[in-house]
Amino acid sequence: MINIVLFGPPGAGKGTQSMKIKEKYNLVHLSTGDLLRSEIAAGTELGLEAKKLMDAGKLVPDEVVIGMIDHKLKDNKDAEGFIFDGFPRTVKQAEALDSLMEENDMAISGMIALEVSEEELVTRLLERGKTSGRPDDQNEGLIRTRVHEYENKTAPVAGYYKEQGKFVSVKGIGSVEEIFTNLSETIQSL
Ligand code: ADP
Repeated sequence: MINIVLFGPPGAGKGTQSMKIKEKYNLVHLSTGDLLRSEIAAGTELGLEAKKLMDAGKLVPDEVVIGMIDHKLKDNKDAEGFIFDGFPRTVKQAEALDSLMEENDMAISGMIALEVSEEELVTRLLERGKTSGRPDDQNEGLIRTRVHEYENKTAPVAGYYKEQGKFVSVKGIGSVEEIFTNLSETIQSL
């Protein structure tokens, strides 16, 4: 079983690369951002609460995303593996993920981080905002808030996996195919 945490700041290309990795290795793709956006689209109470925070570029509470991942793991008992995208985003989420994995007799194979500079991220997200329809992509101030939330709360998650000897980083600049080739080699070596 392969269970990968794909890591990196907003706009690093996690969504794009997750789709390709999922196909190649037959994994279930779990993106907490996508799960939250489905809750918003469905107009659930959870979605309404999450939307306020997401539109402000802030993280939603740990319990909310941990609960969503817990459900999805239980819904996919027969999966060959998972790719986690946008989760865990705090050390608390990383600890909860380890417990959930253990409960389900699974383990994280590795965290792979996509490395991209802040200036490149802002350019990419503003470009994506022209077509994504995502309110959090349309304003430079909000994008910088997200990048700073990442630096303050999410970047430390890398340390959590480094301590376990499970951290690898890959250059996130280049063509989608080039990055995918590097990611595939890294996955092979996990
Ligand atoms: P990005 O493209 O910025 O990486 P995502 O689609 O992964 O964005 O997430 C969008 C927003 O959803 C985040 O800015 C945050 O508000 C919320 N979110 C997604 N995943 C999490 C998480 N694991 N913990 C807390 N908040 C989250």
